[in-house]
Amino acid sequence: MEENDVKIKGLPGIPKNIAKKLIELGYVDVKSLAFSNPEQIADESAIGLTTLQEIIKKARKKLGSPFEAADSIYDKRTKISRITTGSYNLDSLLGGGIESQSITEVYGAFRSGKTQLAFQLAVNVQRPEDEGGLDAGAIFIDCEGSFRPERIVEMASALSLHPMEILKNILVARAYNSEHQIFITKQIPKILKKMNARLIIVDSVIGHFRAEYLGPESLIKRQGKLNKYLHLLQNLASTYDLAVFITNQIQADPSISYGDASQPTGGNILAHAAQTRIYLRRIRRNERSARLIDSPYLPEGEIVFEITSDGIRDIT
Ligand code: ATP
Ligand code: MG
Repeated sequence: MEENDVKIKGLPGIPKNIAKKLIELGYVDVKSLAFSNPEQIADESAIGLTTLQEIIKKARKKLGSPFEAADSIYDKRTKISRITTGSYNLDSLLGGGIESQSITEVYGAFRSGKTQLAFQLAVNVQRPEDEGGLDAGAIFIDCEGSFRPERIVEMASALSLHPMEILKNILVARAYNSEHQIFITKQIPKILKKMNARLIIVDSVIGHFRAEYLGPESLIKRQGKLNKYLHLLQNLASTYDLAVFITNQIQADPSISYGDASQPTGGNILAHAAQTRIYLRRIRRNERSARLIDSPYLPEGEIVFEITSDGIRDIT
């Protein structure tokens, strides 16, 4: 680690060995520390609780009052950026694309197009703002081994973008279990110091949790861990003005009618974490329907789009 790297930005006076540990855990600046929980950091590091409480107190003081007038929240919300999905109709359903500062969850049965949508967003975020992008890169946490660079190349070429440049701006990490997935996610603030990324994708968000905590007796533990993980994602989204896009597979059950089938795994924990939830369903061949479920401020609705060799598109 270079000399420069053992300082927490904006927070002088922390002993080097402690700063180094905090940075390794992903607490790289005032914000990430101010929003953290000292007990949790004490659990995962060898730093004493009192020291941590002091550091965090300092960080919180530095950030200033936790209250703000609602007009300034409104002002911030008008600054929320959006990333186009590639389909005008899907963008409209979402109020203009997927939002920064919050979590968007897409759920659906296998082959419903969750990963395809994630790929398309990883390409589109790199486009200039007047083309629906944010002129920034993407971080892809691949929990299922589903990342396919060839498909990104195909989508980028269809938009006359330079495929190799597009690939360079997508940082991919394969997560092998839930602990590893959490570890990778905690590294994101560190990555953001070196890379301008505005989109985090987690595909799929609870696969590992589900596989590792089987049976009703471990349900509470699983939900607790998942809850913590989703808070981590939410913190990243709001702290760094990122769009977080998570996928979640559901079992297709033909015996259940459309409305009732829209019960993703993760239950209430996920339902409360994701501000925007999209239910994807395969209609026929390349046609997919997307339904907006419980958005805090957009009307519910449903549209149809297409997965073509070029990517996500409106049906023409
Ligand atoms: P899972 O739950 O298994 O991960 P998923 O919802 O992520 O499924 P996707 O991988 O996003 O599903 O979608 C797969 C579908 O995307 C394929 O069935 C196919 O219809 C479509 N698709 C994939 N690649 C192409 C392509 N190059 N051209 C056209 N359609 C494609
Ligand atoms: Mg997938």
